[in-house]
Amino acid sequence: MLSVEVARQQMLETIPVLPTEKRGILGCAGYVLAEALHATENIPPFDNSAMDGFAVRSIDVKGASKENPAVLSVVETIAAGYAPEKHVSSRQAARIMTGAMMPDGADAVVMQEVTELVGDKVKIFESVEENENVRFTSESVKQGDCVMSPGKVLRPPEVSMLASLNCAEVTVYQKPTVAVVSTGDELTPLGEPLMPGKIRDSNRYGMYAQVQNAGGIPIDMGIAPDDAAETERIFRESLAKADALITSGGVSVGEHDIVKNVLTKLGKMNFWRVAMKPGKPQAYGIIDGKPIFGLPGNPVSSLVVFELFVRPALLKMAGHTDLLRPTFKAVLATDVTNKDGRVNYMRAILTEQDGQYIAKTTGPQGSGILHSLVLANGLIIIPSGATLHAGETVDAQFLT
Ligand code: AMP
Ligand code: MG
Repeated sequence: MLSVEVARQQMLETIPVLPTEKRGILGCAGYVLAEALHATENIPPFDNSAMDGFAVRSIDVKGASKENPAVLSVVETIAAGYAPEKHVSSRQAARIMTGAMMPDGADAVVMQEVTELVGDKVKIFESVEENENVRFTSESVKQGDCVMSPGKVLRPPEVSMLASLNCAEVTVYQKPTVAVVSTGDELTPLGEPLMPGKIRDSNRYGMYAQVQNAGGIPIDMGIAPDDAAETERIFRESLAKADALITSGGVSVGEHDIVKNVLTKLGKMNFWRVAMKPGKPQAYGIIDGKPIFGLPGNPVSSLVVFELFVRPALLKMAGHTDLLRPTFKAVLATDVTNKDGRVNYMRAILTEQDGQYIAKTTGPQGSGILHSLVLANGLIIIPSGATLHAGETVDAQFLT
């Protein structure tokens, strides 16, 4: 059986990165930049004050103190958004607001808190160094600088930077559209009464939310019954509509696990038995250039396999290069054993105490016990065959 790392690596190597598109600045958050961005303007575009106060010549306030203030004539008030009209000469000052343009002649700003305005004069109670409280032209970004490179994820700070560069439109990688299908005759959609032998279809909603959470655009393709022709029709329609297809159920060894046969008919697929618990049976392949993930039917397995395999794949499609969640060490709060020959991704509550993470498992860990994930904020990774005692450390990762 393949290890999670090997299977995931093999899978990721085959995942295509989607083409690029242009997006307006108001609709680009969460996308990955596909071009290099050079500054067409200086930021800031002019020398300006970092404080509300008085623009002065530092030499005029040298040695100023509470007892022995410098007294300067105020020549004008400069508000943010307006150009100064006067020159600041010897023994003069200009009242200035944060972000307002520095007047000629002044080389520093004294903050308002250490001054007192008396008529058209200002008393200055503290000295300032030359350049103090001044923000200089291009100190943040110089015209021509490369400010962002391809691969940069556009978070709010990047969006803000685009705006300060007068960049209203950017070239980004497309986000994948992802068709989501549940399979199984036992599944009942929300709102319909549960007949004997039937259960709620939970996986489709979970997968839908996971696609959104991973930055993809889900397309709900409903429930495929355990009927080969109908399943094939739904899968084909899904592939026509979306960049990727995710199904749940029907990839195990049961008599009605027809997903396997249908996918094999559509193209070349791997039916993987990945050495992990939950989630041993899985299917993965590329058909017509589009990734297809056959997730196991058990709710916990479906969610965990998505997390470990599908999420990084969707991130890669969208142009991300940082695909895997970071792992870190956590200290076990209780003993755990994993008698299985497969690594066990246990659901856990991770809390920080005295500078280290403590991991507590969330009760019964069966792959049908969805509540074990609802209670968890992370996974802990228990190697196959391991018996670990409280106080020993394990690898852990957060879930969002
Ligand atoms: P399967 O792999 O299709 O045999 O499914 C394994 C288990 O997961 C069975 O108990 C199914 O009833 C359950 N299951 C499959 N699909 C879903 C779903 N969409 N929502 C909830 N449970 C499911
Ligand atoms: Mg089934």
